[in-house]
Amino acid sequence: MSWVTVIWSAGMGVCLILALMHFLIWFRDRKSWSSFCFPVIALGIVCMGFCELSLMLTDSPDEFLRLVRIGHVLFGVTVAASLLFVHLDFGTGRSWLLLLALGLRTAAVTANLVTDGSLHFISIQSLEKIRFLGESISIVNEATENPWVRLGQLAALVQIAYVIDASTRLWRRGGGLNRHRALSIGGSTVLLFLVGFVLVGSISAGALRAPILVSFPFFGMVLAIGYDMSSNLIRTAQLAKELEANERRLALAGAAGRIAFWEWDLKNDRIWFSKDGWAVFGIEPASEVNFERFMVHVHEDDRSRLEETVRESVEKTGAYSAEFRLVATEGGRPRWLSATGKVEKNNRGEPVLFRGFSIDVSRRKDAESQAAQQRRELTHLSRVGTLGALSGALAHELNQPLAAILSNAQVGRRRLGAEPPDLAEMDEILHDIVDDTKRAGNIVHGMRAMFAKDAPVDLQAVDLNGVVADSLKLLHSEIIARKTRIEFTPLPTLPPITASFIELQQVFINLIVNSLDAISGQSAGVSALPPCIRIIVSDTPDGIMFEVADNGPGIPLENLEHLFEPFFSTKSPGKGLGLGLSISRGIVERYGGKLIAVPPEDGCGAVFRIAFPPPSADAKVAACDHGVDADTPH
Ligand code: ADP
Repeated sequence: MSWVTVIWSAGMGVCLILALMHFLIWFRDRKSWSSFCFPVIALGIVCMGFCELSLMLTDSPDEFLRLVRIGHVLFGVTVAASLLFVHLDFGTGRSWLLLLALGLRTAAVTANLVTDGSLHFISIQSLEKIRFLGESISIVNEATENPWVRLGQLAALVQIAYVIDASTRLWRRGGGLNRHRALSIGGSTVLLFLVGFVLVGSISAGALRAPILVSFPFFGMVLAIGYDMSSNLIRTAQLAKELEANERRLALAGAAGRIAFWEWDLKNDRIWFSKDGWAVFGIEPASEVNFERFMVHVHEDDRSRLEETVRESVEKTGAYSAEFRLVATEGGRPRWLSATGKVEKNNRGEPVLFRGFSIDVSRRKDAESQAAQQRRELTHLSRVGTLGALSGALAHELNQPLAAILSNAQVGRRRLGAEPPDLAEMDEILHDIVDDTKRAGNIVHGMRAMFAKDAPVDLQAVDLNGVVADSLKLLHSEIIARKTRIEFTPLPTLPPITASFIELQQVFINLIVNSLDAISGQSAGVSALPPCIRIIVSDTPDGIMFEVADNGPGIPLENLEHLFEPFFSTKSPGKGLGLGLSISRGIVERYGGKLIAVPPEDGCGAVFRIAFPPPSADAKVAACDHGVDADTPH
């Protein structure tokens, strides 16, 4: 039986099938050039195998020489494809070494083509028949060596050096897969080059009398790469399955939570949305969306703010978090999205990809704005409650200027009867009437603002001295009626804070009324001291501090932790709603401050402390720029 023909044909058949299979795989994707190199190597081996078989079976020295020449070209192409495969697949080899190896191999193939005979032999004088695997085959008997063969040997050494270098580097990267490939692919390639180097070198030097067999070691290399690539294919198929399952889970979560996943290719300005992401953004599924086209769907009031946040994330922070409205509405209300993302950079530190997700938070926003409405209503209720309890005193407060106006007007009428009328006195009387009318007007104005259901909460630069003074003015009659002394010295250097005047006034009125109630509620003779409320203001580097202290009965220890709870009150029904302190704390905290009850230094009475953070320089400048009159209640 002709074993040589059988074995070589079988080997070529296997390589041909592998070549075709992997060529088709590469053709479907056409992205990975390393996958293209493999069918080229396999096809090169098929051709070399055919060439080797023909060499063994020929009887003519000239034909032998011609086949060796062809074989060198096939060998050169296969070696180049092997080197490129290692380079692209490992990604570790030194480029200059690769170029040197390729350059030397090209030079060797050129020498093979341009010199007489082939790279190995200038001429072959005679062939010899030997028995190999049970068959009679031809080998070189007498030949003249070509000196250019050294170039081929040098090329082979550089090839070996390159593959050893690339494999060692891959090995050093660590990881089971890397090491396995370095060993199987790198090892078999080095072995191939080494066998080729030694075997062909010895034959051409006449040291070895054997057939030229290069395709066999190549065959080992193809099997190693083929095995590796097939494992990759199986792994890819498994990963694709897992990916599909993950995508389905993600799509389910995305649809249930109204989440849009997105990716923005920063280099090419292309935005990708997950399948249900388009609907979350209210965008018609389109193949190409860039940043400009995306921004069209953002509510115009939020566009510049969002653009600024995105720019900052890409250029500086790398992290992204934003809440914004869309142009798209739902039930007539704007849709809100909350977005979180991260910028990814390439190895040169340039931002290349922006990846993240956006959640539809319209319902939460709706709930928040209900909650805000309820808070406003409660705040108003508490304000009206406090003023309602003081209505007697307020009526009295108003009565005073009205009574003064009446008596001045009566005196004026009488004086008009005198001949001649005293014009200087008349002027004085009219002046007093104007003053008292203004006073009454101010009281009505202040009360109207406090009673107004939609008291404006627009932020102004507010002078806290003015807030306290106005609150004391409004409570003037009540303070007199309760025979309470007020100690308050405004601090003229106090910086304004950005807040709502009415809301801060509500806080101080609550605290002062609570102190008045506490003082007048205690049994006579309990305190030897005359009733007194002290309001101390200080401006420290840590912020602005107010203390409202009274010499009433103080707060029992068991009540201390409940003071700020809504509806906690020790006052008789109809006198207290139990909302004042909780609402006051809410107001102060909205402006970044704190409201707490502190133990009095001398151990008697109650002390409440309000601390506001130091106003930022920006706020001060903004307040000055807008020319806000800090003393005017708004
Ligand atoms: P209300 O005044 O309607 O009771 P607040 O929330 O303003 O509601 O006050 C809650 C409770 O805190 C009061 O009922 C009282 O028991 C206590 N409290 C507040 N201020 C003082 C104070 N200056 N002295 C003693 N107790 C006080």
